[in-house]
Amino acid sequence: MKSKVALIILLFSALLSICWKTLEPNWINQQRGKYTLYYMPPDAKNIKIYSAMFNRSTHAVEKFCGTKLKQHFDIYVHPTRQSLDSTWQSDWNMPGFTSECWMVASGVAKKLDIISPKLWDEISCEHKYGNKTETQQLITHEICHVFHGQVNKSPDFSDTDGIDWFVEGFATYASGQCNADRIAMVKKAISNKTCPNTLNDFWKGNLKYGLSGSVVMFIDKQYGRKKLLQLLPHNKKSKILQSLQLTEDELIANWKQYLAGLP
Ligand SMILES: [Zn+2]
Repeated sequence: MKSKVALIILLFSALLSICWKTLEPNWINQQRGKYTLYYMPPDAKNIKIYSAMFNRSTHAVEKFCGTKLKQHFDIYVHPTRQSLDSTWQSDWNMPGFTSECWMVASGVAKKLDIISPKLWDEISCEHKYGNKTETQQLITHEICHVFHGQVNKSPDFSDTDGIDWFVEGFATYASGQCNADRIAMVKKAISNKTCPNTLNDFWKGNLKYGLSGSVVMFIDKQYGRKKLLQLLPHNKKSKILQSLQLTEDELIANWKQYLAGLP
C-alpha cells in the first residue's frame, strides 16, 4: 500500500514538473563574450541596439575600475514588469513583492535583470528610454553592481551590514550619475542643515543618488582610485571605515568640507 502511495506521489510530481516546464517562459539566449543575453521574442528586434548599450557600459565600468570583470554574468531583458517582478520574487524569496514604478533593473555578481528599455516610457514613472545619456548611465550603474558583487564578500549583497550608501554610491558615481545638478542639491541640503547625520540614511529620499554618490566621489578624490577599489570587497560599514581610518562622523564631516570646496 505504502509503495502505491509513493508511486502516485512520484507520478504526480513528474506531471507537475512537466507542466511547470511547459509554463516556463521561452527565453532566447545569445552568448556575447563576457555575458549571456536572455530575451523573449518581442525583443528580438531590439537586441542589436541593446547589446551595443550593454557593451558600452561594460567597457565604461572596466575602464573606471582599470580591470576586467572577473566572471561571466547573465543579462535578462524582461518583456514586462510582471516578468521582472516574478524573477525578483523568486530571487529575493519575497513571494508578495511588487516593484515600485521607478524600478526598472537590478544587478548582482551573476546577473543583471532589466525591463526592456524601450518599454520604460510606458511603464516607468521615472526613467525614459529617449534620454540616451541617462539610459546608458542606468545600465552602467547596474553593471557597476555586477562588478562590485563579483569582488564583494556577499556577491548578491544579501549579507551586508550598513553599506547601502557605499554600494549605491559606487554605482552612482562610477556610472556618471552623480552630476552637477545632484551635487548642487546636496550642497543646498548641507547649507540648509537638512542632510542626514548617519550613512545609513544616505541612500534614502530624493537626494539619495547625490548623497551616496558624492561620498564615494569624495573617497575617490581624497584617497585615490586604488583605495576606492580596495574597499569593494567589504560587506560591513565598520570594515570600510576601518580601512579609511575614519569614524563615521569624521567621514561625514570631511565629505561636507570637500563638497563646500567644490565650485
Ligand atoms: Zn543601484
